[in-house]
Amino acid sequence: MAIEWRILGRAGADNALHVVVDTGQARESLLFDCGERCLDELRPAAVQAVAHLCFSHFHMDHVAGFDGFFRLNYNRPEVPVGVWGPPGTIEVMGHRFAGFVWNLHRDQSGEWIVREIGREEIGTARFLTSEAFAPARRLPDRPREGSVVHRTRDWHLEARLLPHGSIPSVAYRVVESPRRNIDPLALRRYDYLPGAWLQEVADDTTSDAELVEVGGRSLRVGELRRELVVTSPGDSIAWLTDFLVEPGSEEWDGLVAWLAGTGTLVCECQYRSADAALAAANAHMTADLVGRLAAEAGVDRLVLQHLSRRYGAEEWLGMLGEATAFFPKTILPPEWNLGA
Ligand SMILES: [Zn+2]
Ligand SMILES: [Zn+2]
Repeated sequence: MAIEWRILGRAGADNALHVVVDTGQARESLLFDCGERCLDELRPAAVQAVAHLCFSHFHMDHVAGFDGFFRLNYNRPEVPVGVWGPPGTIEVMGHRFAGFVWNLHRDQSGEWIVREIGREEIGTARFLTSEAFAPARRLPDRPREGSVVHRTRDWHLEARLLPHGSIPSVAYRVVESPRRNIDPLALRRYDYLPGAWLQEVADDTTSDAELVEVGGRSLRVGELRRELVVTSPGDSIAWLTDFLVEPGSEEWDGLVAWLAGTGTLVCECQYRSADAALAAANAHMTADLVGRLAAEAGVDRLVLQHLSRRYGAEEWLGMLGEATAFFPKTILPPEWNLGA
């Protein structure tokens, strides 16, 4: 199990986050936002492998690259394309789909499941390529249960609405399920002979009540799990962009609690600390606030993205310094080659 990630797009330009959750058996891909030219750095096969496209919001710099994504995936067979976003996503996506002339679509495969994340519920609509993506086929809303919006056996997706001026911006977190490993020391301590039975103990689908043969003895899987299995938390990564939350507010405390223990926090860092007035006027964060947020949440590392193009390389490095003053384990995306 591992989470691979990469920031797409350059410093001062549109950015996106590509995440691959490698479960050992499969590689599942998610894309967070889709700004202009962000897909240039991915091979077409990687774009076609994206199972979930997660929009924070629909300001132009987060959606301008969508046509390239759509072109590679509009008639994707078998695996539907999942789209996530804030309230209004179904309507916006309907307009995007309708922005083309369709006349060779009737026999084409392709299914898009578009979900909009509200505070209380999640709305869903299906769009089919064979119907030229119209009408949106609404499915019943489902109530939200905590922050988790999508769950698989190996990982889950969480979402939280953050304030971005008069609109919400969705923050996301991908969290691997806890890892269960056999403790080799415990194996020796109990003097069990290793064998095929170890796989049954490690396999989640085997029930605790089942019996396995261990060195000629018949033992319960549940009992062996209690003796031998150590559980450690899985890795996690969060995508936060286009928001302003003030320290000391209820919103800040809630965000800190939600992010607590996150592995990698990828966060917008639009303005220098000295430009706080500008940041407040445009509902964005400053470098010092981002560093404070990472420090209070106790994440493992902080990656800055969405830096304003009003600055140059020297000032972007200055912003790194401003965040690092609060949270030392802060980096700029390595692909940017800014010498930091
Ligand atoms: Zn933006
Ligand atoms: Zn925005």
